[in-house]
Amino acid sequence: MSKIIDGKEISLSIKEELKKQIDKLPSKPVLVVIQVGNNEASNVYIKNKKIAASNIGMEFKHIHFDERITENELKEQINKLNNDNNINGIIVQLPLPNHLNSKNIINYIDPNKDIDGLTDINLGKLMSGSECMTSCTPTGVMQLIKEYNIDLGGKHVVIVGRSNLVGKPLIHMLLDEDATVTVTHSKTKDLISFTKQADILIVAVGKKHLITNNMIKEGAVIIDVGINRIDGKIYGDVDFENVLNKASYITPVPKGVGPMTVAMLLKNTLKSYYMMNKINKK
Ligand code: NAP
Repeated sequence: MSKIIDGKEISLSIKEELKKQIDKLPSKPVLVVIQVGNNEASNVYIKNKKIAASNIGMEFKHIHFDERITENELKEQINKLNNDNNINGIIVQLPLPNHLNSKNIINYIDPNKDIDGLTDINLGKLMSGSECMTSCTPTGVMQLIKEYNIDLGGKHVVIVGRSNLVGKPLIHMLLDEDATVTVTHSKTKDLISFTKQADILIVAVGKKHLITNNMIKEGAVIIDVGINRIDGKIYGDVDFENVLNKASYITPVPKGVGPMTVAMLLKNTLKSYYMMNKINKK
């Protein structure tokens, strides 16, 4: 097996399996993305989700609001979707314009339809080890680790970045697999002293090539979540070429974690469909 973790390939086989399951259903699962305003990166992400959903036979609805929409108006729209039995998954595409409180808005989504796993209820359930919708990117990271048979038991995993979207959910997912977890962030002093200890290093910061060869241990597994768009090119948080020889496994950017995020989003939508239709399927 190559040391380069092929997220694209794994995501394709997950989507193939999802398509097979969807083909057998009496109706199409429906995924709704709510967009407010016209953030350029969001447009790209939404387009990718739309293509991925339609490729596996899932219905995709893109609801686009003017950036002047108020918090109450937006909540009203989410409420309608919460109460619509034909809608299985709801995403509010972030970032929202500054006048809208993202946390309040996200928490308005029915937790069973919160396929991004970002409501306080789902994050709390994750922390306490209850069944829930889990955040797509960390779930995708865990899936990659599993697919490559990378054992987490007793391993020291160092996470760089502590966001609700990536770093924090990962803490609990990794602890559940018996890893020893260290979390670092922008206020961490002497970052390198932590990254050098990592058997598995997971980086989710948003700074091109923050992690270089001298910052990792020989044979470490490197998972790069970062996406940095600079002059039309995409870079990770890890200096891939520089680190490649020293790592035992490494995710590239693109084609590493990114495609897994979308695959997990589709998987969660199907999970919600099964729950709403009381179909007992994992
Ligand atoms: P975020 O909310 O901005 O969080 C970034 C984290 O990095 C924060 O915890 C911050 O610390 C920490 N940080 C910033 N500078 C640092 C430094 N010099 N050293 C150590 N830690 C530092 O970002 P996010 O939403 O988690 O996303 C992180 C990256 O992943 C971005 O590039 C994003 O585009 C990418 N991403 C990719 C996917 C995917 O599908 N591949 C999905 C989601 C996100 P503080 O908490 O102290 O500020």
